Amino acid sequence: MRIGHGYDVHRLTEGRKLILGGTEIPYEKGLLGHSDADVLTHAVMDALLGACGLQDIGTHFPDTDAAYKGADSLKLLSEVGRMLREAGYRVENIDATILCQRPKLRPFISAMQSNLARVLELEPGQVNIKATTEEGLGFTGEGLGIAAHAVCLLEKADLR
Ligand code: MG
Repeated sequence: MRIGHGYDVHRLTEGRKLILGGTEIPYEKGLLGHSDADVLTHAVMDALLGACGLQDIGTHFPDTDAAYKGADSLKLLSEVGRMLREAGYRVENIDATILCQRPKLRPFISAMQSNLARVLELEPGQVNIKATTEEGLGFTGEGLGIAAHAVCLLEKADLR
């Protein structure tokens, strides 16, 4: 078995869509980034790559590469899922936490879980997503950005 951890932050800014876990969330601001800046999906990808010993998303999908400008992070996640299977691993579970003061994310959590599970070819129960505020403290508390942590457990697929 292998565990992995991922962490990501993106800045909130006007004039961008807010996309978390492949779900568009109505809000006055969105996350700034080279891709769609889906901070949750980025943290999950880094956890999966980390568990496989395959470095990080910056290595595989560099933000200096025009191919990833405005990229749909679910497509990148699908690619990470393929790399993981090729490396002989399968996902046991993923658990992630989004640190976000506003907007309220609860109504969108199950859609995010379904998106990530579908793209990784997992059962919905293998992906758990939580959201919390930081009680008004720090950059997430002040609404300057959104952060996400993710952990995962993988198993070698061919182990008998
Ligand atoms: Mg990112």
